[in-house]
Amino acid sequence: MTLKICGGEIVNPAGDKSGKLDILIEDGRIKAIGKDLGEASQTIDAGGKMIFPGFIDIHCHLREPGQEYKEDIISGTKAAARGGYTAVCPMPNTSPVMDNAAVCALVMERAKQAYTKVYPVGAATAGLMGKELTEMGELAAMGCVAFSDDGRPIENGAMMRTAMQYAATYGAFIMAHEECLDLKGKGVMNEGYYSTILGLPGIPRAAEEAMIARDIILAESYGLRVHIQHVSTRGGIEIIRAAKKRGVKVTSETAPHYFSGDDSLCRGYDARAKVNPPLRTCDDVEAVKQGLLDGTIDAIATDHAPHHRDEKNIEFALAASGISGFETAFSLAVTNLTDDAGLLARLFAANPANIIGKPGGVLKEGAAADITIADMNIEYILKEEDIISKGKNTPFIGQKLKGVVTQTIVDGKLVFDGEIL
Ligand SMILES: [Zn+2]
Repeated sequence: MTLKICGGEIVNPAGDKSGKLDILIEDGRIKAIGKDLGEASQTIDAGGKMIFPGFIDIHCHLREPGQEYKEDIISGTKAAARGGYTAVCPMPNTSPVMDNAAVCALVMERAKQAYTKVYPVGAATAGLMGKELTEMGELAAMGCVAFSDDGRPIENGAMMRTAMQYAATYGAFIMAHEECLDLKGKGVMNEGYYSTILGLPGIPRAAEEAMIARDIILAESYGLRVHIQHVSTRGGIEIIRAAKKRGVKVTSETAPHYFSGDDSLCRGYDARAKVNPPLRTCDDVEAVKQGLLDGTIDAIATDHAPHHRDEKNIEFALAASGISGFETAFSLAVTNLTDDAGLLARLFAANPANIIGKPGGVLKEGAAADITIADMNIEYILKEEDIISKGKNTPFIGQKLKGVVTQTIVDGKLVFDGEIL
């Protein structure tokens, strides 16, 4: 079985072949990149399109086990494939929590049927309670690429230090959800003008920034690595930028909603815009964009957080936090951040692969054929009924977006071609 991609423009900042070349795939791997590659059993005409290394999402929620009414590994990876992802990293805040080998084994088993590769992130502490570490060695041996209590911070600084040290002994690292719960208090949206006029309790930027600072100081003091999840504030980005200049081993990600919308989207008590960390101000949105453009923020991760309609159609303070993100991430980036395809390839593929230490992020002969093909110029209006994830919760419905993934190839197999195959 051979597959040829013809006529497109290869965008490959981490590799040595780019530009108007064809790709020949055989037995799941890239056999050749070049011109006049001969006949293949199947051909994709990529004329006018960009050919990227497969996108890797280092932060998402697939909800299985335990909350399959929101999403499951199959429905979630279908939506991911539609969004151009060839690999995803689900967070461990499932029910039960993925803090032990039995739950990890279940996820790995289900992942065999998934539409993308699945690289799970194990819990750092038992039950995400911050009291005792998980068996990271066992979880790493089963395939966990990192550890996180995402959804919750590791509140105790000594526990965070131990978790970072313990993860490092297995070649892994901590992905940190940065939030000081005392500073957050009962906050449900960004603390500022809109929280005041809506009369809702606010979450100060300091709740995020204080924890980013703490964990960077821990990483620096002990020579350890830390990855900062979903950065949303100007102050947080400035702390990371300064730390990187000093040589601290810190990487970071943000999600498309943090450069695509501000806290004014919460007007009318629209719970679709409720997310954690919360949408911040226009000034923070500009800082997130700048952080992505100058390399302070290494990756765009979706933080895909599907919820049932009933968990969002209630009063703002009680509604679930999260945005369904797989299917709009690329469009939001093209629409609101950049049309620089090389930068998009770094933020969606090359840097994520480096962060989790997995192959991918580059198109080269002999590598697994994980490829995303996109048309950067198509414009469309986002409609709820077009979202295939079980979670339709996004505040961007009705907006005009630009840039569409047209094909997704995982291990040489076409899994999305305008529709899920
Ligand atoms: Zn989080």
